[in-house]
Amino acid sequence: MTDAFEAASIAGWERPRPLAGRTALVTGGASGIGAAVVRSLAERGARVIVADIDRAAAEALAAEVGGSSWAVDLADTHALTDGVLAEALAGVDILVNNAGIQRINPIQDFAPADFRLILALMLEAPFLLVRAALPHMYATGFGRIINITSVHGIRASPFKSAYVAAKHGLEGLSKVTALEGGEHGVTSNCVSPGYVRTPLVEKQIVDQAAVHGIPEAEVLSSIMLTESAIKRLVEPAEVGSLVAWLASTDAAMVTGASYTMDGGWSAR
Ligand code: NAD
Repeated sequence: MTDAFEAASIAGWERPRPLAGRTALVTGGASGIGAAVVRSLAERGARVIVADIDRAAAEALAAEVGGSSWAVDLADTHALTDGVLAEALAGVDILVNNAGIQRINPIQDFAPADFRLILALMLEAPFLLVRAALPHMYATGFGRIINITSVHGIRASPFKSAYVAAKHGLEGLSKVTALEGGEHGVTSNCVSPGYVRTPLVEKQIVDQAAVHGIPEAEVLSSIMLTESAIKRLVEPAEVGSLVAWLASTDAAMVTGASYTMDGGWSAR
């Protein structure tokens, strides 16, 4: 993708660095959307901490962007003690809650353990990280919480009970954070993408084809693309650019909002 920043580099101009001096932490930062967000924030001057269960991938990306990594299983919320979180989130000005997984099954076949896993990773962990990040943000009078939700944070979909419940919950948590943080210079917003070209979606196409009993190509064209006005998947870098803007001072009056990036899918 060629965005305004790339165009500027091509023309030989200085790449704007609106996030210089900021520290950001991105969960699930080693792959897909998270990795694109890490690169977007780093390109704009932030020092980025890549938090991910995949230690090797997190370390590799941190080295690429000159940041650091935190190898952590965010679904193991009992291990996310106040002490662990205080150390991991020390000095963090921008928190991006992005880590997520998907399980597709009808409710009657949905394993309770899978439901709990998804709620722990995608709702409880974001709560714990926000809770740990706010004291520093309140003390400095600047903070940005950006939650990667989904069109499934505003619309339901069959067979994705835990995912839909977690994303709806995260949309609500984000609004409460916005209301409490506003007077302290802290904004909280959601970015809710449609289908983004990442490993998670590649697996989902396979799973969805199995549960619906149709070919994978049909899943891609009928379930995803025909509903979208712009007939393609979202690119991870496009999500990264929106997150970087929300993290900047330009977005100081944007809070409690949820930005869909779905090529018009939810407009229907
Ligand atoms: P991905 O699978 O490419 O990346 C997810 C990352 O999370 C991986 O690096 C993985 O190692 C990490 N992770 C998984 N479990 C973890 C755990 N227990 N602790 C720490 N890290 C863990 O997925 P993606 O498509 O980039 O999705 C990222 C986020 O975007 C998710 O929250 C997802 O729900 C959301 N989202 C994705 C799409 C899409 O179409 N891809 C659409 C809407 C929303």
